[in-house]
Amino acid sequence: MDNIVIVGNGQAGIQLVDSLRAEGYTGRITVIGEEAHFPYQRPPLSKDYMSEAKNPLPLPLRAEQFFAGNDVDSRLGVRVTAVDRERRTATLNNGSRLVYSKLVLATGAANRELSVPGSGLAGIHGLRTLSDAEAVHARLAAARSVVVIGAGFIGLEFAAAARQRGIDVTVLEFADRPMGRALSPAMSGYFAEAHERMGVKLRFGEGIASFEGRDGHVRAAVSTTGDAYPADLVLVGIGVTPRTELAAAAGLPVENGIIVDSALRTPDPDIFALGDCASYPSRHAGARTRLESVQNATDQARHLARSILGSSESYAGLPWFWSQQGPLKLQIAGLGQHADETVLRGDPASGKFSIFCYRNGELAAVESVNHPADHMAARRLLSQGRSLRQADAADPWFDFKTHSREVAVA
Ligand code: FAD
Repeated sequence: MDNIVIVGNGQAGIQLVDSLRAEGYTGRITVIGEEAHFPYQRPPLSKDYMSEAKNPLPLPLRAEQFFAGNDVDSRLGVRVTAVDRERRTATLNNGSRLVYSKLVLATGAANRELSVPGSGLAGIHGLRTLSDAEAVHARLAAARSVVVIGAGFIGLEFAAAARQRGIDVTVLEFADRPMGRALSPAMSGYFAEAHERMGVKLRFGEGIASFEGRDGHVRAAVSTTGDAYPADLVLVGIGVTPRTELAAAAGLPVENGIIVDSALRTPDPDIFALGDCASYPSRHAGARTRLESVQNATDQARHLARSILGSSESYAGLPWFWSQQGPLKLQIAGLGQHADETVLRGDPASGKFSIFCYRNGELAAVESVNHPADHMAARRLLSQGRSLRQADAADPWFDFKTHSREVAVA
C-alpha cells in the first residue's frame, strides 16, 4: 500500500504535504514530528517574537485544520529512531513501526553547542525551536545585560530585538566582520555600523573562552582576549549541523548533509531528503551545497512532490534569503560567497541600496537593504541565469526593474 512517510514536520515537511496533495497525490501520507507543538514558523522567533515584551504567539505554518483537511496522518511529539531499508519500515520512539512506500527525510538541523568551561550554567541558550524561544523570551523579561556569541543572522536579529527593548547587548564574534560567511565585506561593514548605531556593542576577533556564574546561573562571558562581559542571559548563535543521524545509521551517504542527487533522491531510490538536512548539487553554487533557508525548504518540497510523482526535472531553484535586524530588511538573491568584485547601487546613507556581487565578471548575487524592488528584479534575472553589465548596475538611471521583466519574458 502507498504510504509516503515524512520524517520532520518543519518548513520542508509541511510544504511537501501541501504540494503532494496539490499535485494530485491521493495516497496515504504520514508526517512525524518530534516537537510536541503544532508546526510553526521559525523565522519570527529571533525577530518579532523577541522584540515584543508581551507574551508572543508562534505563527503556525498552516491553519489548524490543515492535516484533517488533507487527510494526513500527523504524529506530534514522536521521533523516528531507525529506518530499515530492507523491510521499508520506520521505527518510532513509542515502539510503533510504519511501513513506507517512499520515505522523506526532512529532519532539519540542530544548533551547534559550546563546550567551554561554564557552558552548562543556567541562562545560556540556543535558539532553534519554539521551546528555546519560550525559554529565552521568559529570561529576557528580567535581563539587563545580554551577551550574544556569534554575529551571524540569528545572533544579530536577536541582538537588534533585545536592543529594541532597551537591553544592553554585547556580541562576541571570532571573525573580523558580521555575517561573514554570507555577505560581501561592504555589506558586512554597513551592518556593523548600523548595529553600533542601534547601541549593540560588537567585539570582533573575540571568541568565547569561558563563562562565570553565581549560584548556578551565568553572570559573565569571558572572551578569548580575557575580557569579561556581564551577562544575565547568553544567546549562542554559532551555527547548526544538519540532522543526518537517521540517514547515516541506515547506511546512506552523509557529508555536510544527506547526499542527494538533482531529484533530491538518496542512492536508495525510495528515500529522499530536502531542506536544511540535505546536500544537493546546485547549479547556482556550481557545486554540491547545503542551504538553511525558507526558500530552500519550500522550493525543494515543491520540486520533490513532482519528483515523487514521476517528474525527472532537476532541482534548479534560485537561492534567496532575508533577515530583519531592527529597521533593516536585508534580502539576498543568489549566492555571493566567492564574489571577486562588487558594485554599489544607491546610497547607503539613505538606508535603501543594493550591492551587486560579481564572480569572474558574471553577476552572482545581489544584496539589498530596504529595497524589495531591486531584490525581486535580481531574482528574476538570476533565475534566468542572466548577468548584468556592471555599468548598468552602477547607473542610478538604469531601469533595473523593467530590464529584469523584459529578460524574464524573453
Ligand atoms: P526544520 O524547520 O528545522 O524542521 C525539521 C523538523 O524535523 C524539526 O521540527 C525536527 O524536530 C524534526 N525532526 C528531526 N529529526 C526527527 C526525527 N528523527 N523524528 C521526528 N522529527 C524529527 N530562514 C530564512 O530564510 N529567513 C529567516 O529570516 C530565517 N530566520 C530564522 C530564525 C530562526 C530562529 C531559525 C531557527 C531559523 C531561521 N531560518 C530563516 C531558517 C529556516 O527556518 C530553516 O532553513 C527552515 O526551517 C528549514 O526547514 P526544514 O524543514 O529543513 O527544517
